[in-house]
Amino acid sequence: MGLPTIRTLDEILARCEPCPTTGCWLWMMFTGTHSGHGRVSVINKGMYVHRYVWELVHGPILSGLQVQHHCDVPSCCNPAHLYLGTQQQNITDRDRRGRQIAPNCEAHGMAKLTAAQVQKIRASNERDTVLARQFNVAHSTISNIRQGRTWRNLSDRLNTEIERNEAKARQALGDCGYV
Ligand SMILES: [Zn+2]
Repeated sequence: MGLPTIRTLDEILARCEPCPTTGCWLWMMFTGTHSGHGRVSVINKGMYVHRYVWELVHGPILSGLQVQHHCDVPSCCNPAHLYLGTQQQNITDRDRRGRQIAPNCEAHGMAKLTAAQVQKIRASNERDTVLARQFNVAHSTISNIRQGRTWRNLSDRLNTEIERNEAKARQALGDCGYV
C-alpha cells in the first residue's frame, strides 16, 4: 500500500487522534519510518506529515531547517507543537528537555474520538444520547466536549487560524509547484 494522499489540514486531522492531556495530534496511520514520524504522499511526492503540516500553515520550509516538536512526540502534527530550527538546535533542545518518554494517549484510553468526530459533535444539534450512541462513547464524553471541558486544544481560535493560514499556505505551495 502506498502512502496516503493528503491535500488539506482537514484530511490530516481526520487521520489523527488528539490527545486530551497533551494536546498532541497523533498520526494514526502507519508511520513507516524508523523515527516514528508519519509520512504522506503530496501529489505523488513522499513527505513527513509534520513537515507538510508546517508548510500548510506557514509556507515552504527553507533548506537547512528542520520542523521540530515542542512535545517531543514524533508522530504529533499539531501545528501549535511545531517549530522551525536547525539540527543542532534540535539536539540541544532535546537534551534540555531530558529526552522524556513520549506520552502515549492510547495507553490511558482517553482518546477514543478523532478530531474530525469531535468537530462533528460540536457542529451537531442532536441530543447527547443520540450522539453517544452514534459515536459509541459515554453521554458524559459528549457533554464534556460540547461544554468545552475536553479537547480544548481543538479550540475555535486555532481552527480559525488554521483556516486562514491554509489558504495562504496553499498559495505558497502552488507557487512552489506542489499543487
Ligand atoms: Zn504534540
